[in-house]
Amino acid sequence: MAIRNVRLEGDPILRKKSKEVKEITPKIRVLIDDMLETMYEKDGVGLAAPQVGILKRIVVIDVGDGPIVMVNPRIVREEGTQTGDEGCISVPGKAGQVTRPNDVTVRFMDENGEHYELDGTELLARAICHECDHLEGKLYVDLVEGGLHEVTAEEEE
Ligand code: ZN
Repeated sequence: MAIRNVRLEGDPILRKKSKEVKEITPKIRVLIDDMLETMYEKDGVGLAAPQVGILKRIVVIDVGDGPIVMVNPRIVREEGTQTGDEGCISVPGKAGQVTRPNDVTVRFMDENGEHYELDGTELLARAICHECDHLEGKLYVDLVEGGLHEVTAEEEE
């Protein structure tokens, strides 16, 4: 496993749409392992492949309940709203208020090609929406209400 270089806001790759993964190859498994290691190293709750410069539809999330690997995730249900502070490994040292669905259902494949459907609420729903946005070339800063503010490392998502 290796820590990958994280692309920061302003890098054009973060604004591109990622491609579907057709097959889980050994190379994809290495990428997933590296994404997990990079996410933990940066104290993030999620990371999407374009953030390490790879335009593939892969995200990893850990909101404190263990790692979730999502290949080709698709949000199929959104309910309610939540408004709270959100941050991003690609926008270090900053956070801002974003309104997201409070409850989502997402369909995806894991790193073994198994298909899953997962319900997420609150922080997990926020993380799923945030990471899926990365796959469309969208950043949370586009959705921020009232501007960004500085955060210390401990407060970062
Ligand atoms: Zn992000």
